[in-house]
Amino acid sequence: MKVKTATKSFIYDLTFEGLESWLTEQGEPKFRASQIYDWLYVKRVTSFDAMSNLSKGLRDKLEAAYEFVKLDEITKLESKDGTVKFLFGLYDGNAIETVLMKHNYGNSVCVTTQVGCRIGCTFCASTLGGLKRNLSAGEIVAQVVEAQKHLDQTGERVSSIVIMGSGEPFENMDATMDFLNVMIHGKGLNIGQRHITVSTSGIVPSIYRFADAQTQINLAISIHAPNDDLRSKLMPVNRRFPFVDVIEACHYYIEKTGRRITFEYALIGGVNDRPEHAEEMALVLKEMLCHVNLIPVNHVPERDYVRTPREDIFEFQRILQKHGVNTTIRREQGHDIAAACGQLRAKHMESGTR
Ligand code: SF4
Repeated sequence: MKVKTATKSFIYDLTFEGLESWLTEQGEPKFRASQIYDWLYVKRVTSFDAMSNLSKGLRDKLEAAYEFVKLDEITKLESKDGTVKFLFGLYDGNAIETVLMKHNYGNSVCVTTQVGCRIGCTFCASTLGGLKRNLSAGEIVAQVVEAQKHLDQTGERVSSIVIMGSGEPFENMDATMDFLNVMIHGKGLNIGQRHITVSTSGIVPSIYRFADAQTQINLAISIHAPNDDLRSKLMPVNRRFPFVDVIEACHYYIEKTGRRITFEYALIGGVNDRPEHAEEMALVLKEMLCHVNLIPVNHVPERDYVRTPREDIFEFQRILQKHGVNTTIRREQGHDIAAACGQLRAKHMESGTR
């Protein structure tokens, strides 16, 4: 397969302020940034030529400096519950997944930040082929724009975003922060900060950086175990950033932002789902401004993990709640169209393409 390369930067890579600086460098007035953002994120055009209120000269300059992200729709699976799973091809032949979920409170998009992942969580299909490369901010933005275009057919809009697809956003921090900047900008897609959640496996320095940015964006930590030993077995990243350091960084985040943290806990049958694990987790979290989201794991064919029985899931929740730790169980969506995150891409890779 012939692999293409991007020759220019992507226009979606630019934050509003970045676009204003570029315009200034070109001797153009800053207010053009509002017009360009309107074309990109409100009218959602896909060529500079379509930006009819800009001079031909400016359109030519844009064309010379930037290009649009082209996401090639390889597969689009629609579930009975409204979930849509996209497999997109990138300019270089790589493929990424994006999921659009319908809730009673609105439509949310789960975006991918890296092609593959190097974190190596043992319950995750996304990491099986390792990390291929980081996505640029614009390649993350484009996923939301595509999901919005899908919703345009029914006059709906993307109302929330979760950064929980393949990849570790906090290992692609600059692109993730620029992506967030584009999403929340009032002239762009204008997604409320409180409607966005970033999920990390616990990259400690980035948690501090995120805390210091003092946004209203939600932070979720994939904790998955109540202690170092078990967490290192499930998530090798714990050897780099140990459990206690992650918890300490979480305390800092809460202190700095006054915001509640969500802890994601994937329940794996017989591994981390016993009552003693719930007790131990409760001891760590009981005084914290936090919330636990229990996620019964999907079967990953390459691993031999089994699902936690229903009654054990409820027991785990009951123990945490007994200690005052607010706990919910994640509702599954798109069950009929795809299994765990990363599996659509994994299948695509098996088929000989990337
Ligand atoms: S769960 Fe997330 S961080 Fe862990 S390997 Fe999968 S994509 Fe990477």
